[in-house]
Amino acid sequence: MGRDEVLKTFEGVVSDPLGSIKEYKEKEKKPVVGYFCTYTPEEMIHAAGAIPFRIIGENKAVERADGHLQSYSCSLIRTGLDLALLGKLDFVDGTVFPHTCDSIQRLSDIWKVNAKIDYHADVVLPVKLNTESAKKYLIEELGAFRKSLDEHFSTTVSDKKLRESIKVYNEMRDNLSRLYRIKNEAPKSITARDVNNCVKAAMYMPVEEHNRLMAELLADLDKGAKDEDAPRVIFSGNLCVFPEILDFVEKAGAYVVGDDMCTGYRYFVTNVDEKKGDDLGPIEAIADRIIKRPICAAKHNPDFDRGEFLKSLAREVKAEGVVFLFLKFCDPHSFDYPRLMKSLDEVKIPHILIETEMDNPALGQLRTRIEAFVEMIRDNR
Ligand code: SF4
Repeated sequence: MGRDEVLKTFEGVVSDPLGSIKEYKEKEKKPVVGYFCTYTPEEMIHAAGAIPFRIIGENKAVERADGHLQSYSCSLIRTGLDLALLGKLDFVDGTVFPHTCDSIQRLSDIWKVNAKIDYHADVVLPVKLNTESAKKYLIEELGAFRKSLDEHFSTTVSDKKLRESIKVYNEMRDNLSRLYRIKNEAPKSITARDVNNCVKAAMYMPVEEHNRLMAELLADLDKGAKDEDAPRVIFSGNLCVFPEILDFVEKAGAYVVGDDMCTGYRYFVTNVDEKKGDDLGPIEAIADRIIKRPICAAKHNPDFDRGEFLKSLAREVKAEGVVFLFLKFCDPHSFDYPRLMKSLDEVKIPHILIETEMDNPALGQLRTRIEAFVEMIRDNR
């Protein structure tokens, strides 16, 4: 398969995640386990013989979930619950809720009662990540998750299976890291929308198939594509559910050369240390990754400053502007926003804030604002 066919396959998966995962389930004869957040240890679900599948809801008006949730909950939560209440997740064999933001935690309670999906697991991760006791607790919590997978799926998530799963997930993360490096060095070689499709497809399809397709894509990208001297922009926030926003940036004549998003870089940036997995056990190695990865706004680690991280990312990829992209009513990201803004102001990197709701994107207005932002960066050069 050449570059275009691979990208078309990923686009097909991302534009219809539910239809695609149902087909994969049928083909691979494996259970599907849905999850809500990138802190979910996918390797463990994979080692239990299931296909992990990220639930991101749908870009459409909420029909039933508002009977259970306040309308000021974020649309990830509202549209996700809607999928379950409308019976669109009936094919899913289980759901996993990692302990992250308050909304995801409380959704778990509502889900347990109303979604009627067989297997339900809360993985209660520590909020503060930098203490010895947090690590000890996390290892125990992951051990309990392993036990519940064993019991429900009548399997044994052995250390051997976990090590194998860690390998295939590390391969997926390495592939996406290589793709980001290529986009950074030769931004014209692939569009930001296609890069984002590659990341999201990893959340929606069997990882082995993703690895196979990514190897073909990486071998067939024109890394020498001549780039124009265009403004370079990065994104920061939670979810990018409207790829049109990435198109607007690139059609306005800038390149998207990186991000700190949970549908982007934060999903794949840190590998599980395989050597540690061999020496100390795979559960400890997975715990280590959760602690070491760049944190999301819903987590706390005094040793990790999100503002410094954003500044150094901007420096590394030579970004000249930052687009903050949040789902409306996301408390953790909104609380972090003033601090992040201040960090960028210190180094005079211009930024813009875009808040979207999945059922109401107002794309026309967004296009105008993005065009003006890119124009401003160009004028400042
Ligand atoms: S923004 Fe944070 S809490 Fe929300 S889904 Fe992403 S990683 Fe999880």
